[in-house]
Amino acid sequence: MASRYPVSLVWLRRDLRLDDHVALFHAARRSDRVVCAFVLDPPLLRGSRVGAPIVQFFFDSLRVLRKRLRALGSDLALLEGDFAGELIALARRTNAGAVFYNADYDPSAIARDLQVTQRLRNAGFDVHAFTDHVYFGADDVVQDSGKPYTVYTPYRRRWNARFETAPHPPVPSEAAARDKVLPREAIGATREIPRPEDFGHASSAAYPRAGLTDAHSLLQQFLDSGATDYAGARNIPALPGTSRLSPHLRAGTIGIRTVVHAAARLRDRAAQHDGAREAHRCAYNIEAWLGELVWRDFYQQLLAHHPRVAHEPFAEAAKEIAYAHDPAGYAAWCDGRTGYPIVDAAMIQLNTMGWMHNRLRMIVASFLTKHLLTDYHDGERYFEQHLADADLAANNGGWQWSASTGTDAAPYFRVFNPTLQGKTFDPDGTFVRAMIPALRNLPPKYVHEPWKLAPLLQAELGCVIGRHYPAPIVDHAFARQRALDVYGAAMSKMRRRDGGPLSRS
Ligand SMILES: Cc1cc2nc3c(=O)[nH]c(=O)nc-3n(C[C@H](O)[C@H](O)[C@H](O)COP(=O)(O)OP(=O)(O)OC[C@H]3O[C@@H](n4cnc5c(N)ncnc54)[C@H](O)[C@@H]3O)c2cc1C
Repeated sequence: MASRYPVSLVWLRRDLRLDDHVALFHAARRSDRVVCAFVLDPPLLRGSRVGAPIVQFFFDSLRVLRKRLRALGSDLALLEGDFAGELIALARRTNAGAVFYNADYDPSAIARDLQVTQRLRNAGFDVHAFTDHVYFGADDVVQDSGKPYTVYTPYRRRWNARFETAPHPPVPSEAAARDKVLPREAIGATREIPRPEDFGHASSAAYPRAGLTDAHSLLQQFLDSGATDYAGARNIPALPGTSRLSPHLRAGTIGIRTVVHAAARLRDRAAQHDGAREAHRCAYNIEAWLGELVWRDFYQQLLAHHPRVAHEPFAEAAKEIAYAHDPAGYAAWCDGRTGYPIVDAAMIQLNTMGWMHNRLRMIVASFLTKHLLTDYHDGERYFEQHLADADLAANNGGWQWSASTGTDAAPYFRVFNPTLQGKTFDPDGTFVRAMIPALRNLPPKYVHEPWKLAPLLQAELGCVIGRHYPAPIVDHAFARQRALDVYGAAMSKMRRRDGGPLSRS
């Protein structure tokens, strides 16, 4: 029979909530009392793998969580430093017998968890790990042979089949743990929630805010008004066409089961109640959104089964790409000074708001890796430091897809034309105008190619190229051909060597 504990610790990491929380649910079932703990990691917080937006989001989320736990008469035990040492000290102080936590597929987290688990066990504590961050765990959706999928479409088919046939995992409410939380006095004094500044990060009111935009209302708002138009609106950065849930899903301020079940319920309701055509349209749109949540699971299982993608391209041939060394181009890309309005507006959105629209992420990633022929690792790192939703699996997956170095990636000859992308997805220039004041007065015809305006008109409209707004740093036709040549050469070199493709698409 499974052991019972007078007290258990729940070690929170990317699951900063009390409902739909698998480890907390099991801890509460098997213990008389539970203590929620989070351990701050100063080297990580001060290091180059995180940036201000995600640090602020996590600290805000911890503050909200502490407030909730205090309202329940308990507290968030906020610890700092040596994970195992801190958890062992807290466990001894509270007479806990076990530590429960939700697994993380990031290879550095796996290494940490192995080490912490070993030390906890050596110190006499039981340790229990659960799958929580993803809807289906890395080994739940695999091929008949047992091999993991490396291509999205069959993965999704199998994911859907499992979703339709297997019993849905329960979504425990906060009530499952509410009566079990250890009183605050028994936890003792614990440290204040730090400010981002304490770890060298500047806070900003423009970054996604955990406390202000409560995840559940964001989900409800999206399901009420955005989800049924998702397939079209999702590509238009000027529209609120996507859920903006990504920082919440990253920090775990909302559980993935809550999100998936709410979307599936809406899809099923739409299919039953509306007219046939409308029902089909709604169901199609919600299905498209569910497909993005499946991409999230897909990249997580890819990282779990192929941890090497964290530091090298999935496709062997990509190791042969002769990247250009272009620090000036990279700096212009980072700052939003490439002279291509949609690229610059996207980077300004990232730099100022700590979030970027998905279509724009694809455009800027294509621009950096193809137009500037820069190694995708540089862009991946920059995103990591500037996104509130920065997540190794999704970020690496997105970059390797865009750079054509990943599994099931964009084919290497797909080089986005940034002007055409702007014209297609921001047709009247609403988005670029909102981000770049110098373009504010330009008519739609020129807003994505301001260099085509006659010099006299440039002066009249306050957008003199080279003065108010840069000229394109690279010519599109030249850059496209260079990318095709260089990527093509890498492919032939690889094919000559052992026949491996650059991309399977
Ligand atoms: C180069 C590049 C880098 C990216 N880096 C990240 C990252 O660090 N963190 C991150 O969460 N997403 C990343 N994405 C995926 C995607 O851009 C964001 O998840 C999405 O823009 C978040 O906005 P949303 O919450 O409104 O998404 P919605 O469209 O409402 O989608 C709902 C949720 O599905 C998930 N999702 C959506 N698209 C993807 C995708 N392509 N891959 C994986 N999950 C997805 C997210 O959790 C998202 O919140 C990246 C994409 C690219 C092309």
